[in-house]
Amino acid sequence: MQKRTIGPLDLAAEYELLGDDIRSVVDQVLTSQHFIGGPAIAELEAALATRVGVKHSIAVTSGTDALLCSLMALGIGAGDEVIVPTFTFFATAGAVARTGATPVFVDIDAATFNLNPAKVSQAVTSATKAIMPVHLFGQAADMDAINDIATKHKLKVVEDAAQAIGAVYKDRSVGSLGDAACLSFYPTKNLGGFGEGGMILTNNDALATRMRQLRNHGETTRYVHEFVGGNFRLDTMKAAILLVKLRHLDDFTKRRQAVADQYRQSLADMPLTLPTIAPEGNMVYHQFSILSDQRDALAAYLREQGVHTGIYYPIPLHRQKCFESLGYKVGSMPTAERVCQQILSLPCHPMLSEEDVERVASNIRTFYDRQSSKPRTGQAGATCSS
Ligand SMILES: *Cc1c(COP(=O)(O)O)cnc(C)c1O
Repeated sequence: MQKRTIGPLDLAAEYELLGDDIRSVVDQVLTSQHFIGGPAIAELEAALATRVGVKHSIAVTSGTDALLCSLMALGIGAGDEVIVPTFTFFATAGAVARTGATPVFVDIDAATFNLNPAKVSQAVTSATKAIMPVHLFGQAADMDAINDIATKHKLKVVEDAAQAIGAVYKDRSVGSLGDAACLSFYPTKNLGGFGEGGMILTNNDALATRMRQLRNHGETTRYVHEFVGGNFRLDTMKAAILLVKLRHLDDFTKRRQAVADQYRQSLADMPLTLPTIAPEGNMVYHQFSILSDQRDALAAYLREQGVHTGIYYPIPLHRQKCFESLGYKVGSMPTAERVCQQILSLPCHPMLSEEDVERVASNIRTFYDRQSSKPRTGQAGATCSS
């Protein structure tokens, strides 16, 4: 019995939908032969600044470079400490380390998987310069609590919003809640481009100027360099494609939310933990991540049934080899360490049909039915043919 694979993404299906529009803008860029800068970059920057509700946006090469450039613009470097969650994609901490500063890892909240503000407070020292909350899986971190700590200790706040474009916190968009914020257009992100890409958002005029200079080798006026930057420029063609994709972001986000709602209904009585949404905001479901104490067996069973899941993330950053010298011990961040062993992200993307989602859910129900001696009853259509 050969069933279609259901995976974490279906970019080919998205391209089938948007291909004509995308090929048309690509052709325009090719005809113009303007590959760097130009109206598409300015248009994408303006569109995202308006959407998020910030004054400035600076298109850059990647989400990672957005983080790096933000920290450089804030003057963070050797001898400084930056507080980051231990449960995030590597880039959050990698960017800190690349400036020469020290990432200081903090455990997460068990319900939202985001920075735990109480642990942030405990981690502040005289060397702390900034906090980098990550809006993980598409849900805002507890920004009021984090901003209060930052105000009290005169720290900067850089939001890592790579997974959360479109998410809100108390009716404000993520990306407008700190001193600067970073987006990623990596192809798998909610606003995924055709290659690498990122964006910095800020309301601070001086910071924005500095970021634009850093993006272009620190050039202040033509061939004059008062400090060292990099080549952090986004390609024109990628910006033109992102403008097409941006027109579909709201619809795609709604579709992700509908998929998530369907999972919540179908899996409500299963012995697993479904994502918790804090009352302050919403969730744009970059991932739909569940916790299961039989995670590896469940993932293996689903794979046999043609359902491919993801583990974000298997290792907390304080346990990564490259940060060994910082001296964090096993057990020092118990929540993140447990979550790394139990977390499983189910397919959750705009191209899934209701039938696809039901197939994933019914496979999960079958898995648990087989675990327990008593067959489950109750859920309509809960039986699975496999
Ligand atoms: C993807 C991601 C990044 C890095 O973005 P790139 O565009 O891949 O460089 C940073 N932080 C988080 C939380 C991410 O998910």
